Amino acid sequence: MAELESGARFDYVIIGGGSAGCTLAARLTEDPDVKVAMLEAGGKNDGLLVRMPAGVGQLIANKGPSNWGFETTPQKHVDNRKLYQPRGRGLGGSSAINGMIYIRGHARDYDQWRQMGLTGWGYADVLPYFKRSQHHEDGSDAWNAEGGPLWVSRGPPGDPIYKAFIQAGKQAGFPVTRDFNGYQQEGVGPYHLTIRDGERWSANAAYLQPVIDRPNLTVISGAHAHRIIIENKKAVGVEFSGGPGKPAQSVFALREVLCCGGAFQSPQILMLSGIGPADELQKLGIKVESDLPEVGRNLQDHLDVCIIYEMTKPLSMYSKTKGLKQPMIGLQYLFAKQGHGRTNHLHAGAFLKTRGELDRPDIQLHLVNAVMQDHARVKADRDGFTIHACQLRPESKGTVKLASANPYENPLIDPNYLAEEVDRRTMRDSVRIVRDIVSQDALNLYRGAEFKPGSHIRTDAEIDAWIRQSAETIYHPVGTVRMGADAKAPVDGDLRVRGIENLRVIDASVMPTLIGGNTNAPTIMIAEKLSDQLRGKPALPPQDARIAEDEMASAV
Ligand SMILES: Cc1cc2nc3c(=O)[nH]c(=O)nc-3n(C[C@H](O)[C@H](O)[C@H](O)COP(=O)(O)OP(=O)(O)OC[C@H]3O[C@@H](n4cnc5c(N)ncnc54)[C@H](O)[C@@H]3O)c2cc1C
Repeated sequence: MAELESGARFDYVIIGGGSAGCTLAARLTEDPDVKVAMLEAGGKNDGLLVRMPAGVGQLIANKGPSNWGFETTPQKHVDNRKLYQPRGRGLGGSSAINGMIYIRGHARDYDQWRQMGLTGWGYADVLPYFKRSQHHEDGSDAWNAEGGPLWVSRGPPGDPIYKAFIQAGKQAGFPVTRDFNGYQQEGVGPYHLTIRDGERWSANAAYLQPVIDRPNLTVISGAHAHRIIIENKKAVGVEFSGGPGKPAQSVFALREVLCCGGAFQSPQILMLSGIGPADELQKLGIKVESDLPEVGRNLQDHLDVCIIYEMTKPLSMYSKTKGLKQPMIGLQYLFAKQGHGRTNHLHAGAFLKTRGELDRPDIQLHLVNAVMQDHARVKADRDGFTIHACQLRPESKGTVKLASANPYENPLIDPNYLAEEVDRRTMRDSVRIVRDIVSQDALNLYRGAEFKPGSHIRTDAEIDAWIRQSAETIYHPVGTVRMGADAKAPVDGDLRVRGIENLRVIDASVMPTLIGGNTNAPTIMIAEKLSDQLRGKPALPPQDARIAEDEMASAV
């Protein structure tokens, strides 16, 4: 990776080489006269575990070179537990360790952003950017496109249990949907995956690697940004170093600094730079550049529970990976790119409503053909399958704060999970819905005893207690530098930081509300959209997908 002379000048300096950072680096350097530097705290991220989709479990479970492995503050409404928070580190960021599920959220999530006064962020406005980023192996239709960098596929055929689960959902009375990103999100159906030819297709693989040799792009890994350099209320560069105790260097931006550190670290970097709640910054001895009390507020995340069933036959990952089978899977993948290593083992799920009157699904399910406990940190000791259930739009909101003015100290992450009764009720309902689906005939071949929570857990109070004991994140924190048309929002609808010139935040932290689904494709969409604006290009023409939605619905 490139070495950098201290004081080097570029048009743009990007902090963070994750989903958003890689997208911006690739798009901005399409203009050969524009010079871009990207600073990434982690490394190249090109090892086998990152490339092989089945490596996902180990990447998530272990803090290490690819995973910051944060934890939350004690969570008051979740038995005072500190919850593990994996986050991607190194090129590709969280897209290099994520579950590879390709989901955009519900159309109304974006229409809600537009209704909040965020012109240009309605579903019709963002759909063309989702499509521009995508290459769907199945070809194009009203919602999907070919030719973009982000490869989307159905992956290798999953185990038969995935089809049985979809059938069970149908037997339970839910609709079946073939594409959660298409005309109808609601239902049970197959997941589409960011996997290309048996390889994880992270933002690094999709956007950065194809262009990494461009002469106008300088990628510096192992470069931890300490703070944005601000002169006279204008961002002019970034101070960084190669690690704690290493000498600090500076890099300068002639046009803009683009902060893409993700939902936990973008607010941290802003606050370290004097942008945030003035009283808190002053207490830590940080000079205030822009008093923005909402930096680090509005944290929203998907909390999740794992409802686990034993399996009556040796058909789950436990039997398939027992003993020497696991290393064989790695070798088979390494030498022939074949076998179980090609899949993420997440082939089916659901978006469902816990109450009929809702205008869109409020829970999401992910089926895994394995016993999954504590982010796969508990080794499975039996055959079984797990259904993850999470609430899509929690009302509980939390914070990210600085622990100190030291850029190497982890921020204080407090998602404030389950503070609101509606969130507790929705999680409880999700357990009952999963039980109903799993009780259907289609799963007779697989279903053994309910392992977690266990069939003895029945009443509201018992289910609530179990949720408090076992709930964990399913990795979608957003909102900590929310965009808004109101003056209190830290960034405006063009993602410019209020009170500081030449500085934008472009990543998952700007989402004002958590979208109903996984957040990688939405983050890439945000970066795609901003790249046009930074390049002075007109926004892509809106596409009103609701027309197509009506046509499709009447054709079904
Ligand atoms: C375990 C896991 C599973 C997930 N599964 C899915 C899934 O299946 N599907 C899906 O759609 N979404 C999934 N997500 C969520 C999705 O991947 C993220 O929402 C998305 O990648 C966020 O992109 P980002 O650009 O905001 O941040 P990131 O991709 O996290 O990028 C931030 C980057 O900034 C770097 N950085 C941070 N601080 C500094 C600093 N001070 N200096 C320099 N660099 C810095 C980080 O190292 C990182 O590379 C998952 C996430 C995780 C963690």
